[in-house]
Amino acid sequence: MTAKPSPITAARPPATPTRWPLPPMVSASLGLHVVAGSALVLVPGAWPWSAAAVVANHLALTAAGLWPRAALLGPNVRRLPDAAAARGEVAITIDDGPDPEVTPATLDLLAANGAHATFFCIAERARAHPALLRRIVAAGHDVQNHSLRHRHNFSVLGPKGFAQEIGDAQTVLADITGVLPHCFRAPAGLRNPLLDPVLHRLGLHLVSWTRRGFDTRRANPAKVLHSLADGLAGGDILLLHDGNARRTDFGTPVLLHVLPPLLQHCRQLGLRPTTLARSLPPRYT
Ligand SMILES: [Zn+2]
Repeated sequence: MTAKPSPITAARPPATPTRWPLPPMVSASLGLHVVAGSALVLVPGAWPWSAAAVVANHLALTAAGLWPRAALLGPNVRRLPDAAAARGEVAITIDDGPDPEVTPATLDLLAANGAHATFFCIAERARAHPALLRRIVAAGHDVQNHSLRHRHNFSVLGPKGFAQEIGDAQTVLADITGVLPHCFRAPAGLRNPLLDPVLHRLGLHLVSWTRRGFDTRRANPAKVLHSLADGLAGGDILLLHDGNARRTDFGTPVLLHVLPPLLQHCRQLGLRPTTLARSLPPRYT
C-alpha cells in the first residue's frame, strides 16, 4: 500500500482574505436595484421603466456569466502574470480528469518532453483514482480544482451549492495529494455573480484561458493544434482535456496527438510549459 503523503500545504489555510471587493458590474447592479426600487415608491406610474431596467440588468449579468473569459463578475485569470510571460512561461491546463487511460499516457508524453502542466481535476474522479492523482503531483505537475462533480447546472447554483462543489473538492484533492489547490476553473467556464464571494473566501483564483482547442468537440488534431499554436506567446494559458476527451477517427484521444507537436512548437518559440503553482502567486499574499 502506498503511504499517503503528509498534507504539507493542505494544513496551511490561505491567508485571511480581506473583505470581498464588489466587482464593478455587481456594484452597479446593486445601485440600479436601489434606484429602481426608489422610483417605484416616488413615481409609481413609471413602474414599467423600473421593471424593464431590472430585467435588462439581470440579462446582462446572465450574459456575463455565460462568457467564460469575462472579468465582469470578479477577477478572472486569462493569462499568466507579466513576470511569467517575460520569462517565456506558458501554462498547459488539462481538464476533466483524472482518466485512467488518457492521463497516464499524457504524463508519459510530458515527461518525454521535459514539460510540466496543470491538471484541473474533478474531485469525484480523483477520489476514484487517488494513485493517479499522486502520480501527477510526484511528477512535478499541478492539481487544481475543477469542482466536486462537474455538475451541468453549476452556473445556476447559489452560495451553498458553490461552497459544497468547490469547498468539498478542495478537501478531497488536498487529502489525496497533500497540496491545497489555489486555482479553480468553473465547469464549462460558466458561472453567476454569487461565485466570486465563495472563491474569495476560499482564496482561489478563477482561471479561464488565453486560447483553447475545443478538443472535446473536434476530432481533428490539426485543427485543435492550430487553435492553440497560432499566435502562441509567453504568458498564454492553454486549455485541453484528458477527461471527456474527443477521439480521432482512429479512436485515440485527441489530446495525445496534439501534445507532442504543441510541445515541440513551444520549444521552437523558446517557451517553457510550466504549472500555475509556479507561475501564478496565491490570490492573497
Ligand atoms: Zn470541465
